[in-house]
Amino acid sequence: MQSLTLTKEQYQKMIAHVELHLPLEACGLLAGHNSKVETVLEVTNQAQSPVRFVMDPIEQLNAFEWIDSNDMELVGIFHSHPTGPETVSPTDIAEAAYAVVYVILARVDDTWYARGFWIEDGEYNEITLRVL
Ligand SMILES: [Zn+2]
Repeated sequence: MQSLTLTKEQYQKMIAHVELHLPLEACGLLAGHNSKVETVLEVTNQAQSPVRFVMDPIEQLNAFEWIDSNDMELVGIFHSHPTGPETVSPTDIAEAAYAVVYVILARVDDTWYARGFWIEDGEYNEITLRVL
């Protein structure tokens, strides 16, 4: 996958979600088809930490079931880095368990920046995020 496409509304929904949970990390799932997001699903960060996230397992399971029953696929996982970095952390690489785009929302000087990454076998490559 070379790019992931989101609408402006979906992008804003992610930003609003991570902004709301400052100073903690926040997370969620992106569902859709191929490389196009159709729905942003917010998930509680069970870790309640400013430096890591663990998706609430019940909410995650419910979200996976919702994605299945709506004939969509998991295409991305997003989470915030309230104090950076703008790229995936060693923990993100170690804990990446799905073949999907990992979207990192990093806050730098009160502004959020989003970048996408594909993580595989301990390596990562940047994926273009297209916001239309
Ligand atoms: Zn991270």
